[in-house]
Amino acid sequence: MQDEKCIVCGKIGEKHHIIFKCEGGLDFPLNYVYLCAEHHRGKNSPHKNKKVDIAYKLKFQNQLHNILLKKYYFMDELTKLLLLNPSQARTICKKFKLYKEGYKNEDIVKRLMGGKLYYDFMLDDYYDESWNIIDKFKEDYIV
Ligand SMILES: [Zn+2]
Ligand SMILES: [Zn+2]
Repeated sequence: MQDEKCIVCGKIGEKHHIIFKCEGGLDFPLNYVYLCAEHHRGKNSPHKNKKVDIAYKLKFQNQLHNILLKKYYFMDELTKLLLLNPSQARTICKKFKLYKEGYKNEDIVKRLMGGKLYYDFMLDDYYDESWNIIDKFKEDYIV
C-alpha cells in the first residue's frame, strides 16, 4: 500500500478518507485518496483547511451522482457500481426502506456522505458552518 502516490504531487502517499471515518465514512475505494504527509496533514490539507476538505467532499459527492443515475438501486447493484464489499453494502442499506424498485438513491448518497450533503456555496468565503441545518440529520443516518 505504501507505494501509492499523492494525487496532488506524486510523492509517496498515505490513505485519506474523504468522508472521515469519524464522520461515518466507509473504507471503500471511492472514499479514499492517497496524499503525501504535507498534502494530507499540512497547512492546505483536508485535515487543516476546511475548504480543502469540502472541495474533496464535493468531488466525491459528484462522483456518486455520476455513478448512481437511477432513482433506486438494489444492494447487489450498489456493491458492484460502488466497489463495496457485501458487508459495507449491508451497513449502508440496513437503515433504509426497501421499496419494490430497490433502495432510494438519495438515501444511499446521503449515507455515503456521512448523513450530510455538500454544496458549492460551502466553498465561498462568507460561508459559515453554523448555517448548516442539515447537520442535525446526521445522527439518524450514521449507524
Ligand atoms: Zn503531495
Ligand atoms: Zn486523512
